[in-house]
Amino acid sequence: MEKERKIIIAGNWKMNKTVAEALDLVHGLRRELAAIKEVDIVVCPPFTALESVSKAILDSNIRLGAQNMSEHGEGAYTGEIPAGMLKEFSVGYVILGHSERRQFQREDDALISRKAAAALTANLIPIVCVGETLLERESGRTQKVVEAQIRGSLAGLSGEQMEKTVLAYEPVWAIGTGKTATSAQAQEVHAFIRKVLAALHGELIARRVRIQYGGSVKANNARELMSQPDVDGALVGGASLELRSFSDIVRNSI
Ligand code: PEP
Repeated sequence: MEKERKIIIAGNWKMNKTVAEALDLVHGLRRELAAIKEVDIVVCPPFTALESVSKAILDSNIRLGAQNMSEHGEGAYTGEIPAGMLKEFSVGYVILGHSERRQFQREDDALISRKAAAALTANLIPIVCVGETLLERESGRTQKVVEAQIRGSLAGLSGEQMEKTVLAYEPVWAIGTGKTATSAQAQEVHAFIRKVLAALHGELIARRVRIQYGGSVKANNARELMSQPDVDGALVGGASLELRSFSDIVRNSI
C-alpha cells in the first residue's frame, strides 16, 4: 500500500564505530542500498566520524545525521557542538531528546525545544524523540507522558517548522531490550501523537509530520511495524550497526 508520507529510516550508531569501522559500514550501505528511492535513509555516526562519513556518502541516497547538538550558536560552551559546525559536514538531520540523553544528561523538554528551534533555524531537520518508561506504561500514563513531551519539546515551533520536524516514538522499555512494542501498541501511540499535533497545528500539518517508531526494530519486525498507517519509519539503534541488518530493515520497510 502506498504510504501517505515518505518512509524515513535512521540509524543511531550511538557511541560506537571508529572512523575506520564507520567507513566500512557506510561503504557497504552505499553499495547495498544504491537502488532504493522510496525511503529516506539516514545514518547518525558519532561526531568524530561525521567528516569521513560525509565524504563517503557524497552523491549517494544516504543522508547524514548527528546524535545531538547545542542549543547555542557559538561561544564558551566546552564540549558542545552547534548547528553551524554540523552543517560544515553537510549534516541534514539531528536526533534531539533521545531517552538516553533525557536520562543520563538530564535533558528536559524545555532544553529540547530550544535545540529543535536552533536546528530548524539552521535548516537542520530535528528528529525529536519521545516515549514512556515501563513504569509509566504500566500505570496507564503513556498518553499523558507522551503528550507532555510533545507539547514541551516542540513548544514555540511554527506550523511550517513542525511540518519539517520528524518525531520518533521510542518507548524507553523497548530500547536496546529486545522488547518491541507490538505493531498495534505502536500504531495506537502514533495515532495519538498525530491527534496531539492536530490540536496544536491543525489536521493538515499533523498529516504531513513523519513519526518514526524506535525500540528494538529488527529486519524481522520492520515490515509489520511499517504497515501501520501512522508509522512512517524507524529510528534504529543496535540493528543499525551491521550492514546486513540495517539494509534489510530499509528494504523491508518498503
Ligand atoms: C534507539 O536507541 O534509538 C533505539 C531504538 O535502540 P534499539 O534499536 O537498539 O532498541
